[in-house]
Amino acid sequence: MSPDAPAGNDKTASRNFIQQIIDADRAAGKNAGRVHTRFPPEPNGYLHIGHAKSICLNFGLAKEFGGKFNLRFDDTNPAKEEQEYVDSIVDDVNWLIAGFGETEGFRVQGSAKTSSTEPSLLNPEPFFASDYFDQLYAWAVQLIKDGKAYVCDLTAEQMREYRGSLTAPGKDSPNRNRTVAENLDLFEQMRAGKFADASRTLRAKIDMASPNINMRDPVLYRIKRAHHHRTGDKWCIYPSYDYTHGQSDSIEGITHSICTLEFENHRPLYDWFCRELGIHHPQQIEFARLNLTYAVMSKRKLLQLVQEKHVTGWDDPRMLTIRGLRRRGYTPEAMRAFCERIGVAKFNSTIDMAWLEDAIREDLNERAPRAMGVLRPLKVVLTNLKEGETIELDAPNHPQKPEMGSRKIPLTREIYIEQEDFMEEAPKKFFRLKPEGEVRLRCAGIIKCDEVVKDAAGKVTELRCTFDPDHSRKVKGTIHWVSAPNALTAEVRLYDHLFGVENPDNAPEGKTFLDNLNPNSLEILKDAKLEPSLKKAKPGTSFQFERTGYFYVDPVDSKPGQPVFNRTSTLRDSWTKEQGTPA
Ligand code: ATP
Ligand code: MG
Repeated sequence: MSPDAPAGNDKTASRNFIQQIIDADRAAGKNAGRVHTRFPPEPNGYLHIGHAKSICLNFGLAKEFGGKFNLRFDDTNPAKEEQEYVDSIVDDVNWLIAGFGETEGFRVQGSAKTSSTEPSLLNPEPFFASDYFDQLYAWAVQLIKDGKAYVCDLTAEQMREYRGSLTAPGKDSPNRNRTVAENLDLFEQMRAGKFADASRTLRAKIDMASPNINMRDPVLYRIKRAHHHRTGDKWCIYPSYDYTHGQSDSIEGITHSICTLEFENHRPLYDWFCRELGIHHPQQIEFARLNLTYAVMSKRKLLQLVQEKHVTGWDDPRMLTIRGLRRRGYTPEAMRAFCERIGVAKFNSTIDMAWLEDAIREDLNERAPRAMGVLRPLKVVLTNLKEGETIELDAPNHPQKPEMGSRKIPLTREIYIEQEDFMEEAPKKFFRLKPEGEVRLRCAGIIKCDEVVKDAAGKVTELRCTFDPDHSRKVKGTIHWVSAPNALTAEVRLYDHLFGVENPDNAPEGKTFLDNLNPNSLEILKDAKLEPSLKKAKPGTSFQFERTGYFYVDPVDSKPGQPVFNRTSTLRDSWTKEQGTPA
């Protein structure tokens, strides 16, 4: 193996610590230079943005080093696992890595199944730890024969007592010195269903005085009569997570087993199993998990949000699940760019949610076609246009990308503008519409406000303006608008952070993270007025509504001719900054 850095990257300083470890391993010829990573979810919930980071990291390393990547379910806990979770995880992983690294043109959004994946990296079928149950059992028998494991009769409560604490060593189980023959016989009977649930365990014989509690004779097998989503009722004993995880890595030939920091204390155990069994020994490397402001990331809490109906489901667009982000309008490219940008660290920290929003804005700014949509309409009558008269205007689909074409938009005597684009008592710096003032209508011309019509309560109900098609005059403000008789009335959903505080997990005494929910995280507008071309907007596609944000056609609630729009994000800057000088 050449000691040189891999092709295409000679800046060691810019390489993260995991890349540097792999560089060194390859230079030393370890694993014959092979790189094989995996993403090992437990199928007990939907994936979230933290998992996306782990997938991008593992998949990215396999890709960078021309290696392999496995999706493997660590399905050792039959009680909490369901096929629904397996299916959603496979689908989300495929969605996230589809086309990874390719330079793509505009994405026709929708199911990633239509996009190309990289078969050399992703094995099309996921792996399952439960497929290794026979091998794991055989290895347990080997450990017993080697005097490294024993059957223990302590109850769960007794075992806790015997385990000791961070400051006190543990005590040996009274069964620790059973003979090999007795252990083999009892373990066989455990498997055959001769004992009651939880009445016995198989434990590794390591060291009850170890400063690392994970090394104090950890449990390898428990008795539990539970139906498993894949092995059915074949087993009434199930291996522990720790006993299963590393050996599954080993069986698959994983070279670098990358996990989050909380597993650092488990690494000696991971190494112990591989060493004592004399099997292929992957290297466990820990990195800091992703935490985001205004978010909770624990599966248990996400499940609670769903079950207690604080959100509409795992795919609620306010959820930071991959499902939720997809339905919000996030693209795999934006999520991968986000994961790349935040980097890989050895110490826990919290990333500002704004980084995630920036990533999707940047992506959609490039590829989302523009359209006009008025979220909170105010009627404007252009008094010098005739009833029934329609002026057809041409509007570019992307101001910097003529190749994205243009569309026709109708201008009529009655139009809608945004309520907030008019102010009766306007401050000096207000460059939108005010009484006697002028403003430019995007793509159309200039209007002057001659008259403000109000209802009995004094609320502004209509503006009467004169229209001037001359574009050449200088007018400071430009606003969006929609023809009233041609408008599509649609439902538009605006989202804010699901939680109202930066660190929702940090709840005062007697409160929980649920008390930190933001009561205004969803606003549903039923009467948005959208330009008529949007009647044909396909579910699963994105648009920039000029000045108001990026919107995604909801794939669940939209009907033909009647799309529902979810706001993916607002625009960062004012419209003129974002788009250059408008027409
Ligand atoms: P739990 O163990 O509480 O059920 P988990 O989030 O650890 O939840 P797993 O299914 O075990 O769920 O996670 C699969 C992989 O994703 C693991 O390798 C884990 O380290 C990684 N992972 C989970 N959460 C994050 C996160 N916030 N940031 C980065 N990686 C994560
Ligand atoms: Mg876990």
